[in-house]
Amino acid sequence: MLTKFLSLFAGDKTLNKEQIEGLASFQSLNGLLDKYAQFGSKRELKKKVQDHREIQSHLGQRDLIRYLDDIFDMQILVLRSSISDAKYNKFWTSSLRELLVKIPYSGMYLETAKKLKEDLDSGHDLGDCTKRAKQLFMSHANSAYEDQQEIYQFLQGISEKLQSIYLEVNEARETCSNSQSKNNIRSSFEQGVQDLKSSINSNQDVHSLKDTLNQLVEALQHKVEKELEQDENETQVLEQKIAGLSNKVKSLEEHAHDLENAIRLKHEEAITDPLTKLYNRAAYIQALEKAWMQWKENSVQATLLVWDIDHFKMLNDRYGHAAGDKVLQSVAQKLKASVGASDMVARFGGEEFVMLLNNKDLEQGEQLAEQIREIIATTEFTYKQQPLQVTISCGVASFVKKDTPTTIFERADKALYKAKRSGRNRVEVLVNAA
Ligand code: GH3
Ligand code: MG
Ligand code: MG
Repeated sequence: MLTKFLSLFAGDKTLNKEQIEGLASFQSLNGLLDKYAQFGSKRELKKKVQDHREIQSHLGQRDLIRYLDDIFDMQILVLRSSISDAKYNKFWTSSLRELLVKIPYSGMYLETAKKLKEDLDSGHDLGDCTKRAKQLFMSHANSAYEDQQEIYQFLQGISEKLQSIYLEVNEARETCSNSQSKNNIRSSFEQGVQDLKSSINSNQDVHSLKDTLNQLVEALQHKVEKELEQDENETQVLEQKIAGLSNKVKSLEEHAHDLENAIRLKHEEAITDPLTKLYNRAAYIQALEKAWMQWKENSVQATLLVWDIDHFKMLNDRYGHAAGDKVLQSVAQKLKASVGASDMVARFGGEEFVMLLNNKDLEQGEQLAEQIREIIATTEFTYKQQPLQVTISCGVASFVKKDTPTTIFERADKALYKAKRSGRNRVEVLVNAA
């Protein structure tokens, strides 16, 4: 920045690198601003210094001349104010002197610079000297101004602006969720760069090129801002939609949960006997079908027990239907308590029950049936404190070759009939279909 600043006073062709560096080491614009800040106790001035710092980093060369103008005005203001003391005046005097000595003025500028330096050395009014210095610097800087430099500076400014827009776009890409908007911003940017390139390549004169580029950058900036704004709106709408949707999903989930419960209850109801709470006949048929498949495909044995309470009609007749119901419930509990988790007990109908013992053969089935028969026979059932004598008979069958669910049941039922005929409170086994 300082190099640019100083080259304005000299013109690129007259100020050599060494001289520029010499001045740079003596004082920079930032140094000048530091001094203002250091000496300035007024709040406004401090703020102005800050503003200048910000402006400085975005300046093109023509802006720099205007900026310089501003600095001198500020300096004149400082000299008039109470914040300029002897120390400050000394600093400023030496700054001015250095600028007058190091910048190689020529022609009428050289004369003016020489006179001004003499006045400074002889302690002439500093405010007056500063005004004259401003005039000298301004006119010299403007005369040294060159179009080529302007283009260069201006394009540099444009590239900086593009960079910042690009950063904005990247940020937007990362933050915005809407991919459509991202693409719009990206294509706006790419189009803008394309337009810029073609403008630079076309042979426009400096000023119209500058105008064109300015318009393009502004249009591009506007487009990006609009896209970002639109994206923000879209994001809001999207968020609302998402919120609405998640509410719907939530209520649907609740509904589905209720429905699931209702279905589960219905299903349980469909396979449960209401009086005994055991599985019903439909559930038994399904379980038998499953066991038969296992037997057929994997030779997994299963044994079927068919139970029938002895002389139940008599019990009903003697103690009443309610007593009969209670006995049915008690027997059902005993049966259920006697089998494992992999086995199933169901009420086949009336006072008849079935048991399907998975993975158990005929002998195991017969043994278990015998235990259960004995438990029932020895259990003291009561109804209204009256003891009830309850016995049960059982027919046992296991799967044999060519069996079907129907044939195994028929065999077990036949065995049960045999048990009845043989005196009841008995377990009978039928080995095969014969
Ligand atoms: P057997 O020893 O030969 O089996 O004689 P049984 O009296 O048990 O057989 P039968 O088929 O003659 O009688 C069955 C009775 O079971 C008839 C019916 O009233 C009774 N019963 C069927 N379902 C129910 C029920 O849900 N509750 C009551 N309390 N009794 C029922
Ligand atoms: Mg019966
Ligand atoms: Mg019976």
